[in-house]
Amino acid sequence: MDCLFCGVAAGEVPATVVHETDRTLAFRDIAPKAPTHVLVIPRDHHRDIGTLMADDPALAEDLFAAATAVAAQEGVVEAGYRLVVNTGPDGGQTVDHVHVHVLGGRPFTWPPG
Ligand code: AMP
Ligand code: ZN
Repeated sequence: MDCLFCGVAAGEVPATVVHETDRTLAFRDIAPKAPTHVLVIPRDHHRDIGTLMADDPALAEDLFAAATAVAAQEGVVEAGYRLVVNTGPDGGQTVDHVHVHVLGGRPFTWPPG
């Protein structure tokens, strides 16, 4: 399977890693949309949040635990931050390996565009 984020998890695609657990990896987005923009992925390949929840809900918990740990590490908890999980074409998902965006360091509007 040719998956960009499996390549990151395998160390074959370079990334700026900021947080690691045995089952998750977090690295800076290559095209940041905010001062803090980190992607958190499971090391195992799962296409999206729905298939992850169906196949390994404990890993979904690990993924969100890692995302909140990244927010703390980035120092954005007090000011606030946004977690985003784009899913499928209408959701704007461009990499089909589930990932949580951790966005912070500026205010965000709601609803998003
Ligand atoms: P999404 O649109 O939710 O699938 O998000 C995919 C994200 O991956 C985008 O924000 C891209 O900027 C980011 N991205 C793509 N390639 C890389 C890469 N090699 N390293 C880090 N981030 C990447
Ligand atoms: Zn993958």
